[in-house]
Amino acid sequence: MKPGAFDYIRIDSAEEACELLAQYGDDARILAGGQSLMTVLNMRLAQPGLLLDVSRTAPLDYVRLQDDKLAVGAAATQASVEWRAGLAGEVPLLKLAFPHISHFQVRNRGTVCGSIAHADPSAELPLCLAALEGEVVLRSKKGRRVLKAGQFFQGMLLTARRPDELVEEVRYPLAATGTGYAFEEFSTRHGDFAIVACAAVVSRDGIRLAVGGVADRPRVARWPHLEDSALDAALNDFAWDLEAQDDPHASAKYRRHLVRRLGRRVIQQASAATSGEK
Ligand SMILES: Cc1cc2nc3c(=O)[nH]c(=O)nc-3n(C[C@H](O)[C@H](O)[C@H](O)COP(=O)(O)OP(=O)(O)OC[C@H]3O[C@@H](n4cnc5c(N)ncnc54)[C@H](O)[C@@H]3O)c2cc1C
Repeated sequence: MKPGAFDYIRIDSAEEACELLAQYGDDARILAGGQSLMTVLNMRLAQPGLLLDVSRTAPLDYVRLQDDKLAVGAAATQASVEWRAGLAGEVPLLKLAFPHISHFQVRNRGTVCGSIAHADPSAELPLCLAALEGEVVLRSKKGRRVLKAGQFFQGMLLTARRPDELVEEVRYPLAATGTGYAFEEFSTRHGDFAIVACAAVVSRDGIRLAVGGVADRPRVARWPHLEDSALDAALNDFAWDLEAQDDPHASAKYRRHLVRRLGRRVIQQASAATSGEK
């Protein structure tokens, strides 16, 4: 299928994007890497009258350290973050997650902010943002607001972004001393969307486990340090809380099983990483 007719503007600055979003609202869509949007348009699931292309907007093409975070601008591709020297030390969870996102051709085009704005419940970058309690910077003509990942993701492909707002930047917290990170996912073939993906952060304060692919958005459980049967019980309760549904890819029962198994595995790996064990 082919998309309906639309106008196209290549954007030079965040200000220009915000000006046009204020003018056109819902009838305008940001085009970033196009890796999700073009399918949506081809299938005519959306028919915007105007596409605002930020993929070559130089002022938005940055990946930089900002205080205790890695800040990624709206035009920065997934590959530009993945291959950043030092990423493994800066945000180890992202380094572990990137190879699971499709194949390198998609990551060469797709942007980090585009994946966050799209908010697919199986996607790896929203999951990492939720696990790390990162932030999304939303910009409109009226100004900026900064939302925590937990406030931003609201449901299946649904976020707190208003029609006149650009996702200008996403901020991933940098690794903290004495904290371990781990990521695992199960998919039918390498590069497919996850059936279940799990990210764990373990620090002296306790455990954070984020799960994607089960609920309508990435969901995060927070526990004190738990072991053995106490951990199994917590994982089991969380697996049921996620209210998995049967679908053509996996049954709800299988997804709950994966949450328990992968969840335990990433927590063990992240715990081992806190003490430098492999
Ligand atoms: C074959 C294939 C396999 C894939 N597999 C995976 C996978 O395994 N895991 C995974 O996570 N993803 C996967 N993807 C999706 C990929 O990661 C996309 O790149 C990503 O979801 C969207 O990023 P994009 O830059 O391409 O955004 P686009 O497709 O350009 O935009 C997506 C949506 O976000 C909006 N948007 C984009 N940027 C902004 C912004 N700055 N502000 C406001 N709104 C914005 C758009 O208007 C659109 O609604 C796959 C894609 C393909 C084609």
